[in-house]
Amino acid sequence: MTPKEVMEFAKKNGVRMVDLKFLDLPGIWQHFTVPIEQFSEESFEEGFGFDGSSIRGWQEIHESDMLVIPDPNTAIIDPFFEVPTLSLICNVVDPITREPYSRDPRYVAQKAEAYLKSTGIGDTAYFGPEAEFFIFDDIRYDSAAHFAYYFVDSIEGIWNTGREECPNLGYKPRHKEGYFPVPPSDKTQDLRTEMTLYLQKVGIEVECHHHEVATGGQAEIDMRFAPLVKMGDNLMWFKYVLKNVAYKHGKTVTFMPKPLFGDNGSGMHTHMSIWKGDTNVFAGDRYAGLSETALYAIGGILKHCRAVCAFTNPTTNSYKRLTPGFEAPVNLCYSSRNRSAAIRIPMYSASPKAKRIEFRTPDPSCNGYLAFAAMLMAALDGIENRIDPGEPMDKDLYSLPPEELKNIPTTPATLEEALQALEEDHEFLMKGDVFTEDLIETWIKYKRENEADQVRLRPHPYEFFLYFDI
Ligand code: GLN
Ligand code: MG
Ligand code: MG
Ligand code: MG
Repeated sequence: MTPKEVMEFAKKNGVRMVDLKFLDLPGIWQHFTVPIEQFSEESFEEGFGFDGSSIRGWQEIHESDMLVIPDPNTAIIDPFFEVPTLSLICNVVDPITREPYSRDPRYVAQKAEAYLKSTGIGDTAYFGPEAEFFIFDDIRYDSAAHFAYYFVDSIEGIWNTGREECPNLGYKPRHKEGYFPVPPSDKTQDLRTEMTLYLQKVGIEVECHHHEVATGGQAEIDMRFAPLVKMGDNLMWFKYVLKNVAYKHGKTVTFMPKPLFGDNGSGMHTHMSIWKGDTNVFAGDRYAGLSETALYAIGGILKHCRAVCAFTNPTTNSYKRLTPGFEAPVNLCYSSRNRSAAIRIPMYSASPKAKRIEFRTPDPSCNGYLAFAAMLMAALDGIENRIDPGEPMDKDLYSLPPEELKNIPTTPATLEEALQALEEDHEFLMKGDVFTEDLIETWIKYKRENEADQVRLRPHPYEFFLYFDI
């Protein structure tokens, strides 16, 4: 839409308020609202000022006045407000220079798209994330913390009893068996359907929804693939819609990767392909119907994976998911069959149009714009430097003997390890000024000081179980 078309759209829908959305560095949407009387075609040029000093990850800017510039292509009526409200996703700019703000994740994603074009390798990179999540009963923050203690504190007791409940009262899916019996074992069908209808309302095409493997209402709703920035936007809407629909029903959705000990975590397998005009440059006649370009892209992602994880798996909790035995990858290798490899090549369709790689490491605690941009930059580095991905690994990695596994590199074991990997390996991200040095440094400092260190320094409930009587 052009600014003029947005104004007409607003008028046609009786819009009274305009909600301006942008995101902080970790990836949570922020917003403020202006009455429609304050909004005109010029607003798309002039933007709106706000105090940027309290936004997470932005603290160090000396000039805290910031400006948001609404993107007219993102105009949607927000379905969660009583009064008709136009919603616009914004870019963040410096009010004096009017330069885009280098710590705005959406800008990083826009630069990654521009960099792809500049290489001549392709003009569009498509992303299809399968963001998994848990639906819990609505629990307030303090009782949520209690909830975590409850499970940890009772690992040998209540938790096991709960798992092995006999008979299975209330049709609860057994441990790791949520994929995917019909109701009444599946209790969230109606909720997922409502989420899907809302996603469609905000213009997102949904391919499928289903219960996932874990108990506790783990679920998946799959969006149809879209270009990088568009998918960054879609993922923000996705989280917003799911949380708000759940909230309406007294439930809570969490994208925390591993909320329950001993059951599957939530991943965000991400399907990716690069297109030039009408041609999928990942399709070819090499392994699993891939092109040489796609194999080099795999080489790049595997080579840089440990650093990429700092963006695709950016929380301390992410690394509680990346452990063997829960369908989450640990080994940095690729395969057409093997779901324990970090990269799988789906074989559902023989059509070159459907050819893509599935990167299985990411999880939905990531900031999509940064995660997709980092994946693309790693893939492009592989293509530009013809990085050999090695031989595919078509065996079940979880059951391989240690001697066979010892030469396969692994995902980082902790957030701190991922941040260190990023400290050591980030040149590939900085090509085309996509990730600036400032953004990478800020990310590492923010994640280390506010998350990794904070978790590391606190006595863990399980330590009481182990050591209290020592
Ligand atoms: N939940 C698993 C993960 O963490 C994936 C399960 C699946 O989709 N097959 O990646
Ligand atoms: Mg899936
Ligand atoms: Mg899944
Ligand atoms: Mg998958």
